[in-house]
Amino acid sequence: MLFDVARLRDDFPLLQQGPGRAPIAYLDNAATTLKPLPVIEAVRGYLADYSGNVHRGQHALADRATEAYEGSRRSVARFLGARASEVVFVRGTTEAIGLVAGGLGLQAGDNVVVSVLEHHSNLLPWRARCGVRVVPLAASGLPDLAAAEAAIDARTRLVAITACSNVTGVYVSVRAWAELAHRKGVPLLVDAAQLAAHRGIDVQGLQCDYLALSGHKLFAPPGVGVLYGTQAALERLEPVQLGGGCVKHVGLDLDYELRELPWRLEAGTPDIAAAIGLGAAVEYLEDLGLDAIEHHEDGLRELLDAEVASLPGLRNHSPSPARAPMLTVTAEDGALGSEVVARVLSDSYGVMVRAGHHCAHPLHAALGLPATLRASLAFYNTEDDVLRLRDGLRALLRRGA
Ligand code: PLP
Repeated sequence: MLFDVARLRDDFPLLQQGPGRAPIAYLDNAATTLKPLPVIEAVRGYLADYSGNVHRGQHALADRATEAYEGSRRSVARFLGARASEVVFVRGTTEAIGLVAGGLGLQAGDNVVVSVLEHHSNLLPWRARCGVRVVPLAASGLPDLAAAEAAIDARTRLVAITACSNVTGVYVSVRAWAELAHRKGVPLLVDAAQLAAHRGIDVQGLQCDYLALSGHKLFAPPGVGVLYGTQAALERLEPVQLGGGCVKHVGLDLDYELRELPWRLEAGTPDIAAAIGLGAAVEYLEDLGLDAIEHHEDGLRELLDAEVASLPGLRNHSPSPARAPMLTVTAEDGALGSEVVARVLSDSYGVMVRAGHHCAHPLHAALGLPATLRASLAFYNTEDDVLRLRDGLRALLRRGA
């Protein structure tokens, strides 16, 4: 199938040029993605035409809102290879992981096994509740499976691993982690925040018990994300929040009966507009085709690597070809990760990247890295975007960034 980037860029208002509007090279997709018109239209449609509440009204607007919200859940379920009852809408990856961390009833003597590759959102919720065993990286740059095997013991309640690093972009073989965890009788949680925009996800194939993702990193609005779980895994969770929407009945003495999944884990009015936007986003991606996206992005990643390699004085900390289209670099003098560099790239070259530690301080410390500069691409990026980054970096290096 022909992947016509020039045409599909027309779907993204932020990529349009016009009078007084300089073209941007948006290379900060690991932070958040741009939104296409079908998503914007779906959100606008809810807000303008039928903004009733879900699940609790007896009128036409509430019916339409509930239909759209549950329709979106079905779309997301199809996108993940899951059942609708296994898809819990949350605010994002952080909240999804928090729901598991809070719901498992972890005790101080328990432990959770994670890797040093993790985002703070997949470290701190565990750290706040029990022991955390942090698996180091092997020489391959991937978390060391043998070390993970040694770390799991009788008090291990969960293995929690990212499918794709938000710093190096490297893909982790989730299936191998699932096999290890299950062989040891422990469930596996996958942080798919960075994977979702780049690779088709099939939760059956991954064999994970839980999977977390954020809508805003998947071309949908902020305010919605997903906690997927197998029925058994979700049933194991005590709701972290209680209130309206999650109960069938509350007695005078405040005894209550929870609703069935997934609603028992969705107390309170959700971000209905964002959830409807997420349904539109996954349908948009299905129309484009995940294979076509992968092919286009792999080409951009190769170009990115080659162009950055042509710049003397830069160190690429994302050398693996098995990774998302992102790149993390430092200058040989170490100074490139400063916020000033990202701001100059933005203000002088229209190239938007991110500088800092990317909410992964332990990984930077483990790799002995100072703050880094990260460029992260999505399917709407072009070769021209990559060349603009190269030119901006070259100019900064000449000036002695
Ligand atoms: N996990 C990874 C790998 C991420 O990259 C991020 C965000 O950058 C998160 C978790 C947290 O996502 P959110 O802030 O949308 O909850």
